[in-house]
Amino acid sequence: MTRALVEECERLGHVLVELAESGEPGRVNRSLIAAIAGHGLFDRLFSDNTVTATDLCSIRQGLARVSTAAETAFAVQGLGAIPIHLNGVDELCARVMPAIRGGTIVAAFALTEPGAGSDAAALVTTAERDGNGFRLNGEKAYISNAPDADMYTLFARTTPDSGSRGITAFVVTSDMGGLRGEPIPMLSPHPVGRLHLDDVFVPAENVLGEIDHGFRVAMQTLDLFRPSVGAFALGMAEAALRIAASHATTRTAFGAPISDFQGVSHQLADVRLAIESAELLVYSAAAAHDDGDNETLTGKAAMAKLHATETAQLAVDTAIQVLGARGLEADSTLAHLYLEVRAPRIYEGTSEIQRNIIAREMFSGRI
Ligand SMILES: Cc1cc2nc3c(=O)[nH]c(=O)nc-3n(C[C@H](O)[C@H](O)[C@H](O)COP(=O)(O)OP(=O)(O)OC[C@H]3O[C@@H](n4cnc5c(N)ncnc54)[C@H](O)[C@@H]3O)c2cc1C
Repeated sequence: MTRALVEECERLGHVLVELAESGEPGRVNRSLIAAIAGHGLFDRLFSDNTVTATDLCSIRQGLARVSTAAETAFAVQGLGAIPIHLNGVDELCARVMPAIRGGTIVAAFALTEPGAGSDAAALVTTAERDGNGFRLNGEKAYISNAPDADMYTLFARTTPDSGSRGITAFVVTSDMGGLRGEPIPMLSPHPVGRLHLDDVFVPAENVLGEIDHGFRVAMQTLDLFRPSVGAFALGMAEAALRIAASHATTRTAFGAPISDFQGVSHQLADVRLAIESAELLVYSAAAAHDDGDNETLTGKAAMAKLHATETAQLAVDTAIQVLGARGLEADSTLAHLYLEVRAPRIYEGTSEIQRNIIAREMFSGRI
């Protein structure tokens, strides 16, 4: 963990929060993305050496302490464009990366389909050769930043019936004929949507990595990002605990601050303990990534994501309990966090899938 970077990004969160809250719920906030770029965060992400997982976690944790909207806008731009940064041909990168870094092109990562979520390798969107390119047909669902994004790293099947080995990663742009989409209103106001691809022609230079090996591109991206979902969760957990601890020491009942009651203080102690352990797991997984420790990375990243996202849920729920009725006021930070904290237990691998990974890695002796 780079504590200075976490704190720098927490301060930046305060600068961005007003703009973050001014966006239309459920739609991409372009002014926010441009402001994040203006503060140099995308330059850190897409530097020549690419961001380290440790720095990525530190940035996400710091922003999440203050603004989940700014955090998510930052993260989704990264998720959508890191595959291009790492795998795009030089000409493509030269054409699009400066605008992605500058926040004027909005990116997204389109893997999930109506019939392929946890089992992403079951995706059925097809990409068939057509001259010097491919024709894409199919549907993507629950894609962050869709349908407003300008550019999608999108995964489609180039070889039928071949599981994860027959998938290719493409860059699909919003101006390509045959691409349309619509927002999916969610419980929390995330910009999430559906995409329909109807004979979309994608030129060959928009292929990322090797044909039929797109799943590697997806996994390379998720290996970098999975610990950082945990860091996002940590930031939310810390925000909730701060509110609860402050309330517990100032609210009196039965003639004493409620923090004097063991029934209250032990709940908060348990949350503090869970946050501390989640932080150790998150930065241990990030270090495994940055050290090139491929033996333990998958298991550690799964443990970090699972424990941190479940901890954040506990932290927010406990904080609401400690605040009593005040915790349920509609415009309160805790009510906002209560809605926000749910999704990270589902995306980038559900908690059940993380447990499957941990068990597999444990039985194979890697962790
Ligand atoms: C807010 C939000 C943003 C998202 N953004 C993106 C994005 O930008 N790009 C993208 O591609 N996708 C995105 N997603 C989709 C997300 O990645 C999927 O929702 C996730 O992978 C789970 O897939 P599913 O919803 O189809 O659930 P399913 O796979 O249908 O799972 C349903 C339930 O079954 C359980 N289950 C499934 N298989 C197993 C198993 N083998 N063992 C035990 N339990 C199992 C799951 O854990 C879950 O509880 C987003 C989702 C959300 C909620």
